[in-house]
Amino acid sequence: MPKLYDVIIIGAGIVGSMVARFLSKYQLDILLIEKEVDVGMGASSANSAILHAGYDALPGSNKALTNMMAVEMWPGLSEELGIDYSRCGDYVVAVSEEDVAVLEELLERGQQNGVPGIEIISGAEMRQREPLIRPDAVAALWAPTGAIGDPFAATVAAAENAVMNGVELLRDTAFEDFLMEGTKIVGVRTNRGDFACRWAVNAAGLFADEVMHQAGVRPEFVIQPRRGEYVILDKADFQLTQPTVIFPTPTEKGKGILVAGTLHGNVIVGPNANFVESKENKDVTKAGIQEIWEGGNKLVPSIQRKHIIAQFAGLRATGNAPSPNPELDYNQDFIIEIPENVTGLVNLGGIESPGFTAAPAIALKVIELLGEAGEHLVEKPDWNPIRTPRPVFRHLDRNQQAALVAKDPAYGRIVCRCEMVTEGEILAEIHAPIPADTYDALKRRTWLGTGRCQGGFDMPRVVEILAAELGLAPEDITKKGRGSEFLYRPTKAVEQDHLTVEALI
Ligand SMILES: Cc1cc2nc3c(=O)[nH]c(=O)nc-3n(C[C@H](O)[C@H](O)[C@H](O)COP(=O)(O)OP(=O)(O)OC[C@H]3O[C@@H](n4cnc5c(N)ncnc54)[C@H](O)[C@@H]3O)c2cc1C
Repeated sequence: MPKLYDVIIIGAGIVGSMVARFLSKYQLDILLIEKEVDVGMGASSANSAILHAGYDALPGSNKALTNMMAVEMWPGLSEELGIDYSRCGDYVVAVSEEDVAVLEELLERGQQNGVPGIEIISGAEMRQREPLIRPDAVAALWAPTGAIGDPFAATVAAAENAVMNGVELLRDTAFEDFLMEGTKIVGVRTNRGDFACRWAVNAAGLFADEVMHQAGVRPEFVIQPRRGEYVILDKADFQLTQPTVIFPTPTEKGKGILVAGTLHGNVIVGPNANFVESKENKDVTKAGIQEIWEGGNKLVPSIQRKHIIAQFAGLRATGNAPSPNPELDYNQDFIIEIPENVTGLVNLGGIESPGFTAAPAIALKVIELLGEAGEHLVEKPDWNPIRTPRPVFRHLDRNQQAALVAKDPAYGRIVCRCEMVTEGEILAEIHAPIPADTYDALKRRTWLGTGRCQGGFDMPRVVEILAAELGLAPEDITKKGRGSEFLYRPTKAVEQDHLTVEALI
């Protein structure tokens, strides 16, 4: 008989990881499964990283409720999880009288949702705050509680805190089907075998529709991926006057192409919003880059294409669950429910934006639903909400750096020159509670390879370190799992076999 888990969470994006972290507070046996080789490889690692203030979501919707709850949670949560967070505020810029009318709607919506301090400022005031804004901006909506987060760090930290508190994490483990007795879920089938459970939480992001269909829930609910493409600008070449978030006035396609600072010091431009057929299609297209470039340029004319150092795309899990206002079809609501026709499922679906923002509040909603379903949740006396962050060398002052190097010389060896990431940081992540065992896992955690050279200098050394620490051959080291190996074979192996000291002299 397999071990009976109280809860199995399917998907370790920001939502599944937050659910695991908040549920780990209770005396429950929890298993978190993720089909990829690392946590946070889906939408949670390819988004704008904005912690939305809450004026966009329609009043009364799950999006609005969880967004507003989460805005309150993020400052304390960031402290607990040891991750960066910046409440820099955000702007929506109007360039015409029609745009101003939209700002007024957003202001009213924000006030209904309870967004504090939200106001419309004049074009002159906007230009004073950000002189790089297009000169004909006529007004802007200012929301002081808008913030920038780090979705990579947040997902890893939430999952890690869950693991510290006893949650079992299985990566490279794909949900295939539910094990059911009639309409009751009694377990899940995965590519690594069956696991028994009393509850399953569907946090499968883009694939949440397929997961719920396996339980016979909402057969009419379909997720259609909506791709958003981005470019990143070199931090040495372009900066906003102050790191902040600048949106255009939204359209029926969504919040529009923004120009924003990131917690890592770069400026990000994007995303567009185009439906694609495949849930794997994260292509960055020529047309897409052109579209976002024009959008970004409209807001901040001084950005220059030669400053682009990276591009990527993410897929929004846009569902067709009824919207509180069907006219705004981009505003389909989140599904957060225990379905009536099945026992043992907490079903989450259509978690597109503001899903990063809302994730901790969605986790609390999951706990509330379990309580309402009669689950007797008993807190663990020894639950530890604190995850102590590992040292980030570039964030330390000279004295702290010297002390760290004296304690561990690996911190004195810079592996990524652009982002100043040390060997010590890489080793710490390889041996962390959720080991970083691919190049991209290290990249998400340490930010190596994200600078101007995009990994050109650090990659060979990182492969070497990973191989040595994991006891693998360099050819077995991957970028992001099977099929993404960097190396095929040792190039000089044949010659070396015949090399002798005599032959050399
Ligand atoms: C372009 C874009 C911009 C966005 N901008 C913002 C923003 O600025 N602010 C904001 O708040 N939100 C934003 N979002 C939304 C936000 O990124 C998502 O709502 C959030 O990341 C969803 O998290 P998730 O955990 O539900 O999904 P994911 O991160 O996709 O996680 C789901 C996980 O489930 C796993 N999985 C799927 N199927 C299976 C299976 N069969 N077995 C096991 N595991 C499985 C996946 O591999 C994945 O890791 C944006 C999204 C996009 C795409």
